Amino acid sequence: MAPDKVIISCAITGSIHTPSMSHLPVTAAEIAASALGAAEAGAAIVHLHARDPVDGRPDQRPEAFEPFLRVIKQSSNVVVNLTTGGSPYMSVEERVKPAAVWKPEVASLNMGSMNFGLFPMLKRYTSFKHGWEPAMLEASHDLVFRNSFKDIRYALDTLNGTGARYEFECYDTSHLHNLNYFWRKGLVQAPLFIQTCFGLLGGIGPHPEEVLHMRRTADRLFGNDYRWSVLGAGASQMNVAAQAAAMGGHVRVGLEDNLWIGKGQLAPSNAAQVTKVRQIIEGLGREIATPDEAREILSLKAATGSVSDAARIRILERPMTNKLALSNPDEFLNHQFALPHQVVASSDPNWRERYWISIFDIQAKDTVLTLGVGKYPNRDVMDNYAILSRGEKQRNLRASRQLLPFNDQIFAGPFSVTLSIHYKRCGCGWRRTRPTLNTISHGTARLHRRWKAITSRSIADA
Ligand SMILES: [Zn+2]
Repeated sequence: MAPDKVIISCAITGSIHTPSMSHLPVTAAEIAASALGAAEAGAAIVHLHARDPVDGRPDQRPEAFEPFLRVIKQSSNVVVNLTTGGSPYMSVEERVKPAAVWKPEVASLNMGSMNFGLFPMLKRYTSFKHGWEPAMLEASHDLVFRNSFKDIRYALDTLNGTGARYEFECYDTSHLHNLNYFWRKGLVQAPLFIQTCFGLLGGIGPHPEEVLHMRRTADRLFGNDYRWSVLGAGASQMNVAAQAAAMGGHVRVGLEDNLWIGKGQLAPSNAAQVTKVRQIIEGLGREIATPDEAREILSLKAATGSVSDAARIRILERPMTNKLALSNPDEFLNHQFALPHQVVASSDPNWRERYWISIFDIQAKDTVLTLGVGKYPNRDVMDNYAILSRGEKQRNLRASRQLLPFNDQIFAGPFSVTLSIHYKRCGCGWRRTRPTLNTISHGTARLHRRWKAITSRSIADA
């Protein structure tokens, strides 16, 4: 069961504010240091954009992200969330690229088109270091931040295979309905991490009734299948965060969303805002989540990328009553074998495309032939298998495009596997019929089953 703790996300620099306005981190070193400071102060997730180090304009080239990603990854366990919002002036292809290249645990995803009015800031700031800053704000009079169904679909098609999960940024009620559409289509998976965003001109306002309305709408559409987080833009930041924290939600702060820490007082750093929201959360009697707890709450890939305790428990809960087949057809062989092929085992909800067929011999009754093919785009692995189970004997044939060197000493729990014929020598001809199999190094294996020896304990130990 996921802990009842508050995930603090911190959006380090964004693309809305400009360098002349405040202590905005701009260079890779500044972004890395500010993100690490936020993590140190209690942020479990850092939401990251890149900027041109010379003039601070938004830079969505994947290579602009590399220097700070490297430093953050080396120094901290914090969850990395890469923007696909980029800047509202960029194309969706450009915006999605960094997440496609760097495959973060979380990628943000804007759930609808909207007006994006940044021009009111021109009243507050009059002197700018760079010409692009006032020009960008001025142009937002006519700016539509485009996130069509096709754009969103493009982002999902590009990123689902990376195993990323999403921070679904919803700036109005309609965005929740758009998300609901993609959820019903099966293109996004629960638990949905929904960032409801308040107070940006063009989106829903930050009034408590509006916060409640988004929460109620999300409850109605997604029930228990979502995790609710909020961000308030500008002066509404801490009010919105406090309301959501009091209602059991998660919060996002950071200089992307608000440059201030109090009335007329610029925030000296991202960490200062994290510290402030942390005090509010703890003042309410709630605890903040560590990065690993956030991974668990949101089912991120680092939490699910190996055979987890949850997977083991699932095996225990489902006793193998089918005497004919080694494994239930919807379980992974990895759950019974140690390392049959390169770590494909995953409860990652984004893996997909597995097909199997079981043929039962109704005369002999004790014979089952199972054939299967699995494609795991998140691991760039494809495998095929055939299992012939007859009486107390079972023969397995497995082949995969990406395999570890064959290990002929495979033991797991009550099972043992011995190599009888190397695949290359068994002449099955799959290479010809399955052109995607370009590396084949496993063999057929004879598997000895000792059913009486199976106990819950021995499987758990496996
Ligand atoms: Zn952002």
